[in-house]
Amino acid sequence: MLRTNTSLKPYNTFDIEVFAEYYAEFDSVTSLTQLLHKRKDRPLFILGGGSNILFTQNYNGLVLKNEILGLKTIEENSNSVVIEAGAGMNWHSFVLSCIEKNFGGLENLSLIPGNVGASPMQNIGAYGVEIKDVFEYLDAVHIATGKVQRFYKADCAFGYRESIFKRTLKDKYIICHVAFRLSKIKHDLNTSYGAIESELEKMKITNPNIRDVSNAVIAIRQSKLPDPNKIGNAGSFFKNPVVPKNNLTNLLEKYPNIPHYPAPNDKVKLAAGWLIEQAGWKGKTYDGRYGVHAKQALVLVNYKNTTGQEILNLSNEIIADVKFKFDVTLEREVNIL
Ligand SMILES: Cc1cc2nc3c(=O)[nH]c(=O)nc-3n(C[C@H](O)[C@H](O)[C@H](O)COP(=O)(O)OP(=O)(O)OC[C@H]3O[C@@H](n4cnc5c(N)ncnc54)[C@H](O)[C@@H]3O)c2cc1C
Repeated sequence: MLRTNTSLKPYNTFDIEVFAEYYAEFDSVTSLTQLLHKRKDRPLFILGGGSNILFTQNYNGLVLKNEILGLKTIEENSNSVVIEAGAGMNWHSFVLSCIEKNFGGLENLSLIPGNVGASPMQNIGAYGVEIKDVFEYLDAVHIATGKVQRFYKADCAFGYRESIFKRTLKDKYIICHVAFRLSKIKHDLNTSYGAIESELEKMKITNPNIRDVSNAVIAIRQSKLPDPNKIGNAGSFFKNPVVPKNNLTNLLEKYPNIPHYPAPNDKVKLAAGWLIEQAGWKGKTYDGRYGVHAKQALVLVNYKNTTGQEILNLSNEIIADVKFKFDVTLEREVNIL
C-alpha cells in the first residue's frame, strides 16, 4: 500500500524529520515488483535500516522500505555452510543467529546497525573483517526491467566501504537476498585488532571461540560508539582517507605521531578520527542540539531537533578545516539525500 506524506524520522538512525511524498514497504520480490509497477516515473529511494543516511530535505518521490525476511541453507558440507538471508533482516540479529549455530566468519561484524541488504552496498567492515571475506552472492531486482539478477563476489567490485552498487550500478538494483559462506569447524578467528585482544584479556578468555570474539566486539563498540537509540547518528561520518606514500612523508615531518596503516597500491590509510580530533573538532556542540561526538571524532551526532542540512554544513566545515590543516581530503561515508 502506498502511503503519502510519511515522516521518515522513525526510519533513520540520525533521527532527522523529513517527509516522503510516497512510502511503501515490501516483504517479497513479488510485492516489490508490484510496487515498481505503481511507481510510474517517480524518483525512487530504497531504505534499509536507515543507519547510513543523512536526510537533508523532504523526498519528492517514492521511498520503498525493504522488509524481506527469512534464512535459508543453500549448501552445506563438513567444513562450511552457505546461508542466504532476506535483505530486510536486521544485520546484528542475523550475525547472532549464525553464532548461535556455531557458523563462523561474521563475529567481528557484530552490532553493526542496519539490515542485511545494505551490507554489500558499502562492503561493511569492522575490526579487520569486511563482508567481502565471507560473501557468496546476492540476488537483486533490476529496477528498469523487474528481473532478478545474481551477482557473485567478482561482479561486485568490493573495496574499502565500496562496491559496484555505490558506483556504476548506483540506483539500478534492489538487493533482495544475500548469501554468505561461513565456517562450521576450524573457525579462522581474527583477533589481530589490539582492542579485541585486550578486551578478551579483560574477559579472562585465553582460548576464544566465535561467541567470545563477538562479545568482545560488542563490548568495545558499546564503550566507544553512541547508541543510535539514544543519540541520533549514522556511525562513522567520514571514511579513513587513503593517500599516496609521499603525502605521508610530508605529514610525518610535521606530525611524527600520525597514525597510518598500509593500504593496497603502495598507499597508506590515515585515521580520519585522529585528523578531526587534532583539528580541534572532537566534542564540539552547537546549541546543545548537534555536534561531534565527545568520545569518537568520526561520529557526528544529533542530540535533538537538528536538521540534516545543519549536520551536512558541519561536515563541510570539518572537511575544509582538515584540508587546510593537513592537506588531506576527507570523503563522507554516509549517504546524503
Ligand atoms: C552506531 C553506528 C555504527 C556503525 N558502524 C559501522 C561499522 O562498523 N562498519 C560499517 O561498515 N558501517 C557501520 N555503520 C554504518 C551502517 O550501519 C552500515 O552502512 C549499514 O550497512 C547500513 O545498513 P542500512 O540497512 O541501515 O542501510 P540504509 O542506511 O537504509 O541504506 C544505506 C544505502 O544503501 C541503500 N540500500 C539499502 N538497502 C538496500 C537494498 N536492499 N537494495 C539496494 N540498496 C539498498 C540505500 O538506498 C542507501 O543508499 C554504523 C552505523 C551506526 C549508526
